[in-house]
Amino acid sequence: MCKIAIVGAGPSGCMAACNLNKKFEVTLFDKSSPLKTLLPTGGGKCNLAHAEYDFKELAKSYPRGEKFLYSVFSKFSTAETLDFFEKIGVKTYTREDNRIFPLSNSSQDVRTKILNQMHHCKFKKEEVLSVKKIDSGYEIKTTKAKYFSDIVIVAIGGKSSYKTLQDLGHTIVSPKPALVGLKTKQNFKNVQGVTIKNCKILSDKKEYFGNILFTNDGITGPPVFELSSVNARKSFPYEISVDFINEDLDLQKLFDENPHKNLGNLLAEFLPKSIVNTLFSVDLTQKCYAVRANTKVLVNNFLRKYKFEIVGTRKDGETVACGGVSLGEINSKNFESKLNKNLYIIGEVLDIDGFCGGYNLQYCWSSGYLSANSINDKCKKM
Ligand SMILES: Cc1cc2nc3c(=O)[nH]c(=O)nc-3n(C[C@H](O)[C@H](O)[C@H](O)COP(=O)(O)OP(=O)(O)OC[C@H]3O[C@@H](n4cnc5c(N)ncnc54)[C@H](O)[C@@H]3O)c2cc1C
Repeated sequence: MCKIAIVGAGPSGCMAACNLNKKFEVTLFDKSSPLKTLLPTGGGKCNLAHAEYDFKELAKSYPRGEKFLYSVFSKFSTAETLDFFEKIGVKTYTREDNRIFPLSNSSQDVRTKILNQMHHCKFKKEEVLSVKKIDSGYEIKTTKAKYFSDIVIVAIGGKSSYKTLQDLGHTIVSPKPALVGLKTKQNFKNVQGVTIKNCKILSDKKEYFGNILFTNDGITGPPVFELSSVNARKSFPYEISVDFINEDLDLQKLFDENPHKNLGNLLAEFLPKSIVNTLFSVDLTQKCYAVRANTKVLVNNFLRKYKFEIVGTRKDGETVACGGVSLGEINSKNFESKLNKNLYIIGEVLDIDGFCGGYNLQYCWSSGYLSANSINDKCKKM
């Protein structure tokens, strides 16, 4: 009988456990409760995949790992994920923005259904301190005891220590937070909680679209998360430019048509008054007919090219790790380490991360399934 240890019972580790042959002796180790990290996903609703069925298109939504994922998604991607969930009793629906959720809109429900598939596994609530290669397999040392295993799957996520893997010879690409809000040099305490809809952010010639929300120390919201992901390795500070209007607007015509309106009221037609008052420092009481040409340039820059100086990351958002175990050391067909036979490394602990929208869980399901499938084949021959 094959003895398999899974270190980390998050989405990727549990997906592997569900798909391992039920005859094997499988033990999951987690310092916390199994699938606890699934609970906050999608704001508690669990955005478990994204309705993109072309595997190369799907891989484009991963700022780190795109090429590596071609091989992965060509074998297990969105359609296979939905099949898996259907089989375990999780019906799903696709939202207008192509995000896929369980019909129950409950990550707790998804968690229960996955755990129901894992009755053949032992679970040990123990922190793993080290995984050592020994002659015939691996020795796993936890806070409580030592265990032996033929095969180990490491699925510890992106928020834990990488020491176990470094001790096994693996290279770690230094982790940085991605899919997070951003801190700005400007202080937005007066306008925190205010949202501006349908903005366009410009950074390094790339464009990001959506609603921006002001926080006490910066900005957040979907386009900010995407920007934080693409720029995860960029050093601070850096500047971005925001078009708050993002549609055709003839400013001169507007001034001509509203000569007796004061500037503040004119701008309030486009942006919340609190934003205008806080972010724009010209005399807002002047009438439109009296606004000088140089002030009109300032108005245009304020509405269409507002500059934010980004000085760091916030802790909100999905917060996935950009960085982790270097992909050159992993076989993209099955997630086995190229340095250590019978060691598999899956999920967020690898240097792979996707945008918001179900991409990160999709990758966890794919890596969990492919590692389990490879182990099933291997153990038949052992
Ligand atoms: C707030 C939030 C919302 C999110 N929403 C979505 C979403 O809707 N859709 C989406 O696709 N993605 C979402 N994500 C991202 C997604 O949750 C992660 O990509 C995913 O959880 C990674 O799974 P994993 O199994 O690789 O690692 P993790 O989920 O981090 O699990 C790792 C497990 O390993 C355990 N562990 C770590 N070290 C040890 C050790 N030494 N010994 C024992 N156990 C250990 C941990 O306790 C943990 O249980 C969200 C993330 C956050 C933070």
